[in-house]
Amino acid sequence: METLDPTDWGEFARIAHKAVDEAIARTAALRDRPVWRPMPPAARKALRQPLPVEPTPLDHVVDEAWDTILAYPMGNTHPRFWMWYMGASSLTGALADFLAAADGSNLGGGDHAAAECERQVIDWLRQIAGFPEGSSGTLTSGGSEANLIGLTVARNRAIPGIDLREGGLAALPRPLRFYASDQVHGCHQKAVELLGLGNRALRRIPTGPDCRMDVEALARAIEEDRAQGWQPACVIATAGTVNTGAIDPLPAMADLCRDRGLWLHVDGCIGALTRLSPRHAHLLDGIDRADSLALDPHKSLHVPFEAGCVLVRDARAHLGSFALHSEYLDPALRGIAAGGWLLDLGLQTSRGFRALKIWMMLREHGTARLGRIIGRNIDQARRLAALAQAHPRLTLLSPVTLDIACFRYDPGGLDPSALAGLNAEIMMRLQEDGTVAFSDTTVHGEHGLRAAICNHRTTDEDIGMALAAVVRTGDALATTHAPTHASPA
Ligand SMILES: *Cc1c(COP(=O)(O)O)cnc(C)c1O
Repeated sequence: METLDPTDWGEFARIAHKAVDEAIARTAALRDRPVWRPMPPAARKALRQPLPVEPTPLDHVVDEAWDTILAYPMGNTHPRFWMWYMGASSLTGALADFLAAADGSNLGGGDHAAAECERQVIDWLRQIAGFPEGSSGTLTSGGSEANLIGLTVARNRAIPGIDLREGGLAALPRPLRFYASDQVHGCHQKAVELLGLGNRALRRIPTGPDCRMDVEALARAIEEDRAQGWQPACVIATAGTVNTGAIDPLPAMADLCRDRGLWLHVDGCIGALTRLSPRHAHLLDGIDRADSLALDPHKSLHVPFEAGCVLVRDARAHLGSFALHSEYLDPALRGIAAGGWLLDLGLQTSRGFRALKIWMMLREHGTARLGRIIGRNIDQARRLAALAQAHPRLTLLSPVTLDIACFRYDPGGLDPSALAGLNAEIMMRLQEDGTVAFSDTTVHGEHGLRAAICNHRTTDEDIGMALAAVVRTGDALATTHAPTHASPA
């Protein structure tokens, strides 16, 4: 009878073991490889194939995957990948993903060990965040979904006695207003758009030179909005902004939310897990006062994508926003359908077994080691900042709080757009020659390069080496490409 299982189990085992060995060897040799290589046109072309109708032997399929796909990764596993903000993955996490997939459980619901494992992982993450026992939480595809879930609960709780799930926005007597700093991550705009509130409902509060929210401006905005007929509903604090790693003043924002009866949601996708570093945990003081918190294990826990998490202090409010009772999903007294439904805590019905990779990473390494690595990345961002400050042609663009540093190469005498062009050119060359991957960004109008060092493989030497490459490339470009240094008029 035809099934999708191997016809020869021994042959499958040989192919699978070889693939595992190859993945391990490549990971062990990462440092010797370029950070990134552009995908050659021939490989791109080789990938464009007609819909496969007939079978192909697995060993061919795996070889082809290595040659045309797995040979050209994004590069975020490399020790000198510091673009955007993401994790560097891990073989333990990869192994866990394989085991989870082989287990095959659907974590939408049911009474099985995979669901129990997710509950354990949520409880560990709750303890890391300092949330009280009895809080609720769920694993998500990432921080974006985690934030969307937190903001959904905030919206639904905004006006007591009004059932927004049933009546929708038409049931609102006044439009809701949410608040976040001007450094807020783009996923919050998508969230308020998806929630039907619209982008205008998310009022951006200015930040100071340290990129932290101005809480007095927040208090004034809330008063102003009330006077103008808005219903202030939720304050989004960012604990680790994506631009510079700044942490909003959490205790002051928690006080304000308590006094005004507003929901406090904290976007801790970058910073929440920094509580694991004893030297830096105090930076997050106040995060445990949030009503809801998004965090992101696929960042500083380095589990493979995807794994985010949202915690909600009021478990009933969380359930109240997502639970449904469908006749085809009635819980049973015993058997597989006797467990609680994890799908009652989020958007998805079918849910993957994301918990296992987090469970295995936490069990293998323990929070102490993970915390040391998070702390080391912060030290490395400070090291980078200190080197940049000490160099005559490098400028630090913002203070360093966590593991992000923004800086630029500046030979002097260039106008802002030429300077931005020069730095973008440096960034692209260093990516193309495989030396180091920075991203670029603009902080309070100043363009520069950004190193987000969320990487358990980065060494201190990598930092010095990368900055030397920036200067070398900048010097070469400044003499050959840029206009000769105009002396200031
Ligand atoms: C990464 C990030 C997000 C989005 O999380 P994803 O896991 O990429 O969906 C949201 N907010 C902040 C501050 C982030 O750094």
